[in-house]
Amino acid sequence: MDIHVISIFPEMFSAISEQGVVGRAIKQNVLTLTLHNPRDYTLDERRTVDDRPYGGGPGMIMMPEPLVKTIKMAKKAAKQAFKDKPKVVYLSPQGQRFDHAAANSFAQDESLILLAGRYEGVDERVIQNYVDEEWSIGDYVLSGGELPAMVMIDAIARLLPESLGNSESAQQDSFVDGLLDCPHYTRPENFQNELVPDVLLSGNHQAIAKWRQQQALRRTVDRRPDLLEKIELTAEQIELLERINK
Ligand code: SAM
Repeated sequence: MDIHVISIFPEMFSAISEQGVVGRAIKQNVLTLTLHNPRDYTLDERRTVDDRPYGGGPGMIMMPEPLVKTIKMAKKAAKQAFKDKPKVVYLSPQGQRFDHAAANSFAQDESLILLAGRYEGVDERVIQNYVDEEWSIGDYVLSGGELPAMVMIDAIARLLPESLGNSESAQQDSFVDGLLDCPHYTRPENFQNELVPDVLLSGNHQAIAKWRQQQALRRTVDRRPDLLEKIELTAEQIELLERINK
């Protein structure tokens, strides 16, 4: 997948691009990450990208000219061979809420352009004419779109085929099958007098799988019952749910 990020703080992205799952995906050419700085598309000596808001008020607004030039360059740079045009996504607290389903859907695309805002945000005419979708990572306001862009990139990268090593799998993660993940344990067997559940030591793969499913369901009932409304449960899960509810 080919991801382009538009940001006036491109150096922030080394936090994900040089290590971990994203870093490995880049090294293995599963993912390419290209950073575009709107300051490179300014005409004045001070490389100005922001100006005061019309109508007055506090804060600055990102000016349209450098952003539009950068979006055009990013689109050009997005690999020509791809048949799909890259979506331009503006990270914004006013956007749709980003979740597992959205990450999965982006992971099917060949390319993506993420626009990270700063200050009070970007000139509305950029959003109206050059942005395809707005996405938010939650109902709070951050000082810039870089962290939200990194959150999206990490969540998407985990779902790209071959980005996780053999020992890792996104298949068991929370939300993949609509439920939260089950609890996990590693050595030692006895930690501060708390023992690993017997079934996990039994070597009985069928019993372990069943226990994990039950635990995932129980956790979801306890912590996120809203998730259950969005999935179709199996007969076995319905029976277990009835037992939990009792
Ligand atoms: N004035 C804007 C508002 O209230 O909607 C907030 C601007 S915020 C200080 C600066 C930038 O941070 C935004 O342009 C956006 O790119 C990013 N941002 C802040 N919170 C975000 C969130 N929850 N999700 C995605 N992006 C966010």
